[in-house]
Amino acid sequence: MSDTTADVVIIGGGIMGAAIAWHLAERGVGRIRVLERGAQPAAGSTGRATGGFRAQYGTAINVHLSLLALAQLEAFHDVHGVDPEYRPVGYLFTARTPESLEVLRTARQVQHAAGYTDGIEVGADDIRRLSPAVRAEAFVGGTYAERDGYITPRALLDGLLGSARRRGVQLSFEAPVSELECAGDRIVAVRTGTDRIGTPLVINAAGPWAAQVAALAGVALPVAPVKRQVAITVPSAVLPADTPMTIDADSGFHLRVRGDRVLLLHPDTPPAADPFDTTFDSAWLATIREGVRDVVPALTGVPIDVPSCWAGLYEMSPDRHLLFGALPERPNLLLANGSSGHGVMHALAVGQLMAELVCDGRAHSLDMSSLAPDRFARDAAIEGPDLL
Ligand SMILES: Cc1cc2nc3c(=O)[nH]c(=O)nc-3n(C[C@H](O)[C@H](O)[C@H](O)COP(=O)(O)OP(=O)(O)OC[C@H]3O[C@@H](n4cnc5c(N)ncnc54)[C@H](O)[C@@H]3O)c2cc1C
Repeated sequence: MSDTTADVVIIGGGIMGAAIAWHLAERGVGRIRVLERGAQPAAGSTGRATGGFRAQYGTAINVHLSLLALAQLEAFHDVHGVDPEYRPVGYLFTARTPESLEVLRTARQVQHAAGYTDGIEVGADDIRRLSPAVRAEAFVGGTYAERDGYITPRALLDGLLGSARRRGVQLSFEAPVSELECAGDRIVAVRTGTDRIGTPLVINAAGPWAAQVAALAGVALPVAPVKRQVAITVPSAVLPADTPMTIDADSGFHLRVRGDRVLLLHPDTPPAADPFDTTFDSAWLATIREGVRDVVPALTGVPIDVPSCWAGLYEMSPDRHLLFGALPERPNLLLANGSSGHGVMHALAVGQLMAELVCDGRAHSLDMSSLAPDRFARDAAIEGPDLL
């Protein structure tokens, strides 16, 4: 058992852990350890994300997080030397009923008030023009924002990990954290099977496993894994490469083009006995085929490449928003958890804000008070139109 010390220990080497490590190093924090139990990067949700990026949200805080991330995304190649493959092809939300169109309108007002003025309301003709293969007549309207689009999660992760390493961050793989040693209300050391690392500060970046990690310090964290599946077609030229992410706001069915294939998603997933199960359940493809018939019939004849389909885990919080900062009962366990399926696109912002919290005592680029992790106990959960 090796016995060492670090100024900060980050648990989890996915996109959150990587972004936080990089920003802390950039701010001059000394000995930073990242402990990742996987054998290589992207072992968790980051490696299974589809890579959507949007600022079209229904709550101001999520819009602000996206805008903060967008500024870094646009500079990412210059800073990290890796192309994050940001492609602003837009997100198109479509509504089948006047009621769901109203939800999109309300969200658009929130976005505009928060400074994201790209969002426009669209009618059936615009939908036909923007996403030509979509059955536009099924919809009464929608919204579209042109700076939304796609990123490549793995490229972002590799860029951040590379920069963090060059700044002296020590990344350990196959390093599962199994114990958090506490004295009073503070964590004093992090243990894996082979290491004991004494530290004054621990950051939980364990994605869908965040509650398990918090439990090691006796903290009950309301972050739960939810399985999400992705269907992928065989190569085809049916949809143009610049097709926007197209989301049927009523059913949640959505699609994006990746290379010469199309990714098809739907939030419904058959429940599994093990909440951390990520085996792909092909019975769910019936839901996808129904969505294809209904929304994008042009794809009906394009086979699904079943062996290439996959499943992963969202890290859901009760109000579908990030938990940021410490709980009063464990002041030196900082949380960056519960992004609820938006963690890749928000990680650059969360990393910056976490570094501000650590180095300056508070996050000042954005008021993060609404995301305090004790908000549920205070009956202060975030409310707002839910876009997906
Ligand atoms: C199908 C799918 C599609 C998605 N699409 C998008 C999208 O389009 N856009 C978007 O922004 N987000 C998307 N997401 C969500 C996104 O993947 C997550 O929000 C994001 O990856 C969370 O990052 P993370 O670093 O917190 O978690 P992870 O990437 O899961 O990283 C956590 C890491 O912690 C490690 N770990 C866990 N326990 C321990 C332990 N005890 N000791 C050491 N290490 C530990 C895990 O091995 C893991 O590598 C999608 C997710 C899925 C499943």
